[in-house]
Amino acid sequence: MRILVCGGAGYIGSHTCLALVGRGHQVVIADSGVNSSPRVVPRLRRLAGVPVPVHRVDLRDRVALTALFATYRFDAVLHFAALKAVGDSCRRPLEYFDNNISGTIALLQAMQCAGVRRLVFSSSATVYGEPAQVPVREDAGLSVMNPYGRTKLVAEQLIGDLCTSDPDFRAANLRYFNPVGAHASGVIGEDPCGEPTNLMPYICQVAVGAREKLRVFGGDYPTPDGTGVRDYIHVVDLARAHVDALEFMVRADRSLTVNLGTGRGVSVLDLVHAFERASGRRVPYEIVERRPGDAASVYADPSLAHELLGWRAEFDVDAMCRDAWRWQSMNPEGYRTATRREAPSRGRR
Ligand code: NAD
Ligand code: UDP
Repeated sequence: MRILVCGGAGYIGSHTCLALVGRGHQVVIADSGVNSSPRVVPRLRRLAGVPVPVHRVDLRDRVALTALFATYRFDAVLHFAALKAVGDSCRRPLEYFDNNISGTIALLQAMQCAGVRRLVFSSSATVYGEPAQVPVREDAGLSVMNPYGRTKLVAEQLIGDLCTSDPDFRAANLRYFNPVGAHASGVIGEDPCGEPTNLMPYICQVAVGAREKLRVFGGDYPTPDGTGVRDYIHVVDLARAHVDALEFMVRADRSLTVNLGTGRGVSVLDLVHAFERASGRRVPYEIVERRPGDAASVYADPSLAHELLGWRAEFDVDAMCRDAWRWQSMNPEGYRTATRREAPSRGRR
């Protein structure tokens, strides 16, 4: 299939492009560059070994989007393009509503005009709010904790309404738990702007010496060691799930909503210790106040994804830490560090 990957230059999108190419699909990327480095695409092309056309397009730019759909005949769209920082969304809710919700509406309209009726959408466990029970199943209650979460829930609802109104439209809502890790090559990975807000990139930056110590938000949760429990999933497993979901949606000709997690709860300190083992570095930390709005424990029941797609996460926490560390140590400043191949030549010829 020829797939439009919106947000394909980002963290999860870039790994998914490789998974798509690995399964014989053609990929075209549309990305505004709002949260991606220009270094991603050349690295991605090198790893993919096939041409990957990239268009600098903001989904809200209807003229550019229409032109893109007129240039290629897409069989399906994978939609990763969103702003994703929870704290930032509380400070700038309108930007998040506009980028994530208006962008999704413009994309759905362009798909409808072009007669493209297959969509895989990046949703999030955030749509469960603070879950009443764990592991979380897809039929758990949905709620909104912050403007970012609202954009994910609203987008799922818009897509659901479109599926109801157009009997031929099919969508896969993929609710990710906590994606971490990097491609085994160490060539692409997660590169947050400024101070990381998520745990794994913060641990990586402490281990590489860019930050002094980790602040562990809360040591008094009702969890085995008192720190918050989450369901970390290797980004390569997550990427593979997208291809499985896409192919299932097309083959079975049906829509779906599934959790993507390992089903295993891992505490902050479990992750710190696994990272220390994988990297051979110490990760100094101090336990501080809880972060407002954090749930004690959130992990998935991923059995529906296995039942429908035959998909199951393969990598454990040690592999996630090993690959996150390989990426971080090969790219201490993320994509700001040029590889030898990328650096301008300074020697004499
Ligand atoms: P990312 O920021 O690395 O990637 C998103 C990409 O989309 C970026 O390259 C950005 O430049 C692009 N983009 C943003 N708005 C755009 C627009 N209007 N038009 C075109 N391009 C645009 O984020 P990620 O971690 O790869 O996340 C991908 C998706 O998964 C997002 O929708 C995010 O909300 C969702 N998600 C992420 C996580 C996570 O922890 N990383 C968890 C759950 C869900
Ligand atoms: N966390 C932490 N220190 C940090 C960042 C996160 O202790 O610098 C904790 C956080 O309280 C939560 C877990 O790590 O228990 C995962 O947080 P993250 O922000 O990565 O994911 P989310 O809370 O969105 O699931």
